[in-house]
Amino acid sequence: MITSWFLQPPAVLVLVAGLAAVESGCSSPVDTPDTTQEVASLQAMAVRFAPADIAADVSGLPENERRALTKIIEAARVMDALFLRQVWSGNEAMQARLAADQTPLGRARLHYFLINKGPWSRLDHNTPFIPGLSPKSGGANLYPEDATKDDIEAWLKTLSEPDRARAMGFFTVIRRGPGGRGFVAVPYFTEYKGMVESAGAALKEAAALTTQPTLKRYLNTRADALLDDDYYESDVAWMELDASIEPTIGPYEVYEDEWFNAKAAYESFITIRDEAETKKLERFGAELQDIENHLPIDPKYRNPTLGALAPIRVVNEMFASGDANRGVQTAAFNLPNDERVIREKGSKRVMLKNVQETKFRQVLVPISSVALPSGDRGNVAFDAFFTHILMHELMHGLGPHDIHVGGRATTVRQELKETYSAVEEAKADISGLWAMRFLIEKGSLDRSFERTLYTTFLASTFRSIRFGINEAHGRGIAIQLNYLLDAGAVTVASDGTFAVNPSNINQAVTGLTREIMTLQAEGSYMKARALVDTLGVVRPEVQRVLDRLTHVPVDIEPRFVTAESLR
Ligand code: ZN
Repeated sequence: MITSWFLQPPAVLVLVAGLAAVESGCSSPVDTPDTTQEVASLQAMAVRFAPADIAADVSGLPENERRALTKIIEAARVMDALFLRQVWSGNEAMQARLAADQTPLGRARLHYFLINKGPWSRLDHNTPFIPGLSPKSGGANLYPEDATKDDIEAWLKTLSEPDRARAMGFFTVIRRGPGGRGFVAVPYFTEYKGMVESAGAALKEAAALTTQPTLKRYLNTRADALLDDDYYESDVAWMELDASIEPTIGPYEVYEDEWFNAKAAYESFITIRDEAETKKLERFGAELQDIENHLPIDPKYRNPTLGALAPIRVVNEMFASGDANRGVQTAAFNLPNDERVIREKGSKRVMLKNVQETKFRQVLVPISSVALPSGDRGNVAFDAFFTHILMHELMHGLGPHDIHVGGRATTVRQELKETYSAVEEAKADISGLWAMRFLIEKGSLDRSFERTLYTTFLASTFRSIRFGINEAHGRGIAIQLNYLLDAGAVTVASDGTFAVNPSNINQAVTGLTREIMTLQAEGSYMKARALVDTLGVVRPEVQRVLDRLTHVPVDIEPRFVTAESLR
């Protein structure tokens, strides 16, 4: 599942009308006032995605691996075509029509179409932006476009259990039956035959070129899987990948199927392993037991022997396509989604460092120039930002998980019920700050982080809350910001800017880490509910900053310059 920090689009925050003042700058003599207005409106929607180069260092790759990479990207481009068809049956014809239209309106429409992979604006609840279109079907083109969700549910009830499971499987589309009567489940490898064959062939060529055994195995097994939709072996091969090139390609996430979250959308992330960050992660991994042993909680709640942690990879993206390149860009993901592979092999978290860095530059830095006093802006640093994200991921594995309540063995997740996700996200953030401070004191982390750590975190809280507090990350961030405000560790100046108070911040971070981990250890739903209800809110002084962010981009529009240079 994708759990990126940029996952939830802040649709309610950035309304198109609020941005309509953007200049169109390109009205031609033939434009009527109507088309000029439409061009301006399309540009106002598109400008929320700041164009940005996405590059990765491939200079260290030998010639054969570069050629393999070129072939992998060739296969990845097919995922764009596959996804376009999965979104809507009219997409390919519409793209061709828009591409042939050289007027300013045609170009503006094509640009925004490509960002959204279809004629519906994903940041605006899928509102159509090309006139005369119906609302986007919740079932996309994964079900017959003239059927309703009720039709499909009624049909599912008539099926035997094995047929029902097949109909609701990841890798079948539902089509009308013979003569338009009833429905049938059609396997992806049949529905998308020509396209998956060409992607598979390119992956086979790449497999023949690489000399890295785990990569060769993934490419070969994935190429076979695209042709029979049995992904188990290639998912296992993906878990065991240990290579300079780390591709993820195939049908994975189910968000495009808004009716049942059952059908996987084709996508790709083609990435290069980041050696320096991978080493940093290993170093942190070796510190985890010591961090656990010093957590600011009652020693009886500490875990004397931490188990193995889920693997984390830090990579740089050089190409993304299909479901991985529409609307808001993914910055990190957990895969696979297949329960059988997860049971047997676990899952892997992949962090796209250069995507995070681009969002940091294009979104977080502009936010900090609104939210922070000018003297503090120099303390907003990518190194602190990214190291804290790594620490956040690691801290999910620390602290209380399996607990006893009244002598009964249970888990924090079970006891905290619907408050669990927000509380657990807040825990990972705040204890991540606490752990970085601990490592600085210990001499395991550079002292320079002392200056940037908290101010960078403060700037990032506005970025998260902007995406809404109805989702666990945003709600968890609101809890922390309000706690720090109440503790006098963050202060608000008369001009509305926020600053870290160095004399109170360490104590407040320790205090909230203790409070959250203790209520988790006690399995106290009441305390968790109270924390979320009182602190998981957007206060007026925070809202005033959010209101001043309308000119700051919501996300990025990637240009894959390294991938282009390999062509
Ligand atoms: Zn998290």
